[in-house]
Amino acid sequence: MSNETLEPRDWDAFRAQAHRAVDALVDHIGSPREQAGWRPVPPTVAARLRAPFSAKGVGLEAALEDAIYDVLAYPTGNAHPRFWGWVIGSGAPAAIVGDLIAAGLNANNFGSEQSAAHVELAVIDWAKDLLGYPAEATGLLVSGGSMANLAGLTVARNERGGPGVREEGLSGHTARLMVYASQETHSSVRKALELLGLGERSLSLVPVLADKTIDMGALRTAIVRDRELGRRPIALVGNAGTVNTGAVDPLAALADLAAAEKLWFHVDGAIGVPALLTARGRELLKGIERADSVALDLHKWLYMPYECGMVLVRHGGAQRRAFGVPAPYLAPGGGGTADGPFAFNDHGVQLSRGFKALKVWLALRAHGTQPFAAAIDANLDQAQRLAARIGASPELELLAPVALNVVVWRYRAPALAPDALDALNRRILTEMQTRGIAVPSGTLVDGCYALRAAITNHRSTDADFDAVVEATVALGRELTRAAAA
Ligand SMILES: *Cc1c(COP(=O)(O)O)cnc(C)c1O
Repeated sequence: MSNETLEPRDWDAFRAQAHRAVDALVDHIGSPREQAGWRPVPPTVAARLRAPFSAKGVGLEAALEDAIYDVLAYPTGNAHPRFWGWVIGSGAPAAIVGDLIAAGLNANNFGSEQSAAHVELAVIDWAKDLLGYPAEATGLLVSGGSMANLAGLTVARNERGGPGVREEGLSGHTARLMVYASQETHSSVRKALELLGLGERSLSLVPVLADKTIDMGALRTAIVRDRELGRRPIALVGNAGTVNTGAVDPLAALADLAAAEKLWFHVDGAIGVPALLTARGRELLKGIERADSVALDLHKWLYMPYECGMVLVRHGGAQRRAFGVPAPYLAPGGGGTADGPFAFNDHGVQLSRGFKALKVWLALRAHGTQPFAAAIDANLDQAQRLAARIGASPELELLAPVALNVVVWRYRAPALAPDALDALNRRILTEMQTRGIAVPSGTLVDGCYALRAAITNHRSTDADFDAVVEATVALGRELTRAAAA
């Protein structure tokens, strides 16, 4: 029989192990150029990581050793200055300390009276202010943009789907409820509508213009046609930064149309909202303050460690009308622990909730907002500069205009058929990643395979972007030569 218990027998030894973990972490993030590039997990390491657990453990010291060597060594890669794949933030060190404390504190921020409640409200108030939302607006920290879109669209369905949606569900409806968004809209919007029982066909994907923003004329036509067909339009979704190319839909025009058509206006700002800290961002995102709900991500362009997203709803009460379910075992009253300042559980899906807000609060309190604005401004400059360098190279082609922080491009090979050109660019991307040069990701733009950099990285420098331009050209030449030989 093991006499091991869950509680440390020797707190000094535990403290030493915890310090060791912090030291290893700081080594890991403190020298990102040397430490944290992406590389695949070798099969032997994967086998060790997946080994079944035994009844008798190896002890904290040995387990920590395994974590330091096998886990820290094969990360996502996003601490590295040349990581721009998907849309993945780089992680501000001050915020990491907040997550450490939150884990140790083990708060459950469901709505009772405790420090975490006030800290989360401070973060929500900051975001409301950033958006230009009124005091009555409500919000909630969630896991990310996908959950924030689901939450915002749940409120949209309940507020505009007709009376009785909560009581009857969609079974009480005959008319198909319709939601409109551009073809460039993130897959999480479709997922949300499917989860809400509206079905994929309730999402009308509207064509885009050459700059990848929604075609307002086509949108108006789609709404008129759907009404003629007896369908019931309920909401518009605007993009504040599309996932593919970073396009920003004309948010003020969408707000006007939503008001005229009595539709809910939801903005997917998973990428773009933090840009409101900059003058350029405020100009680009004008009209977002009129959205009925907004989804944003703090783990992308606010550089917060995973996970951290937020939903905000402009109208006081609407979020609670969608999510609040009374339960006697959760009722406040009496001035005890249950009497918290805000019923977080009645504003979203989760009852038990962690303390995501602390990392945001700690980083914003430590740094102030200015360094965040400066990092975002730098990323905006880097995107423009990268696009200009691509545009200036006869061997490269920029595949979409750059409004925000996403750049898509490819190597040109005029002699190649479209399929072969796609395959070549796919190879360029793979080689770039596996040789440890840089980590952009891939996508399709107008049906063409593209390399794609989404710049949400506070560690990148101009030289890093020069390197990716040079690597695209060098790999393009090398792989074309290899194919011809
Ligand atoms: C990433 C992203 C999402 C989903 O956010 P998660 O945080 O990954 O859940 C939604 N919309 C856009 C535009 C995104 O870039």
